[in-house]
Amino acid sequence: MRITFLGLGKMGRAMAAHVPAGGHDLTVWNRSPGKATDLIDKGAREAASVSDAVRDADAIVIMLFDGAAVRPVLQEVIGAARPGTLVIDSTTIGAAAAREFGQSAAEAGLRYVDAPVVGSVAPATDGTLGIVAGASDEDFAAALPLLQLWGDPDRIRRVGEVGSGNALKSVINLTLGVAMGGIAEALRLAHDLALDRHVVLDVLEIGPLGFSAKQKRKMLESGEFDGATFTLDAMIKDLDLALSSAHEELPVTGATKSIADEASAAGHGEDDYASFAGYFSAEGRPNST
Ligand code: NAP
Repeated sequence: MRITFLGLGKMGRAMAAHVPAGGHDLTVWNRSPGKATDLIDKGAREAASVSDAVRDADAIVIMLFDGAAVRPVLQEVIGAARPGTLVIDSTTIGAAAAREFGQSAAEAGLRYVDAPVVGSVAPATDGTLGIVAGASDEDFAAALPLLQLWGDPDRIRRVGEVGSGNALKSVINLTLGVAMGGIAEALRLAHDLALDRHVVLDVLEIGPLGFSAKQKRKMLESGEFDGATFTLDAMIKDLDLALSSAHEELPVTGATKSIADEASAAGHGEDDYASFAGYFSAEGRPNST
């Protein structure tokens, strides 16, 4: 098949690398140049524009930052792709945008699957991502062989119609953000009670916040949050998506987001998302009493 990847950020680049190994032709496009070198070495063609990238594609994978980035790119796809082309949008964009994009694609005779991924750069590189997809049965069946290139077959599931993949993804990332908010407050309280951070993390690792404490322990101990695979600003985007999708106020998520916003404003937006726990629990945080 001829597969086009639009977006070669941290995740897009790692996912696209599986395409040539799967025996498919790969064409790539990225807004800023210079991200395709490794993929070109694997046989990919880099296109100069979205239109050029998608004209002959059988399937198009979109992996951009957010819905605002996807909207104009999808319009270019609609203007240039052949009718019937399969569009797999793996960007985390929220259920409302996914439904809007699904409708625009369908009106243009394209097939659209929202397929946000669960897991970060390491599983994307290993081809073991979880994938939660929203699509018709028929479009999901068409997408599945491609999703299996970068996803774990046991962790790829169709959740419902277009939009439901992103609906579930919002729920998943709410838990990730709120868990880190819990760690932020636990470490803050531990600091105030003069407890040793290493001892506290030993205990957090085996408690209800264990997954996140374990995964981010090195950063939380060292206070070094650079080299992000999932940035704080991406987490803030996803907390915003959760808050704007809810029909009732989500006070715990809202409080988590305000700490995350504060950390981002203090310069941590491109750091790992765990940086807001480091920021909040640190001595001398500007807003602390
Ligand atoms: P990233 O490294 O920041 O890459 C973002 C990509 O979007 C880049 O290719 C960037 O192009 C492009 N982009 C941003 N704004 C654009 C615009 N206005 N027009 C065109 N292209 C634009 O992000 P990522 O970490 O790969 O994440 C990609 C998506 O996956 C996000 O929705 C994220 O929430 C989701 N996700 C991420 C992770 C993770 O661990 N990183 C895990 C699961 C899901 P440039 O190179 O030109 O900036």
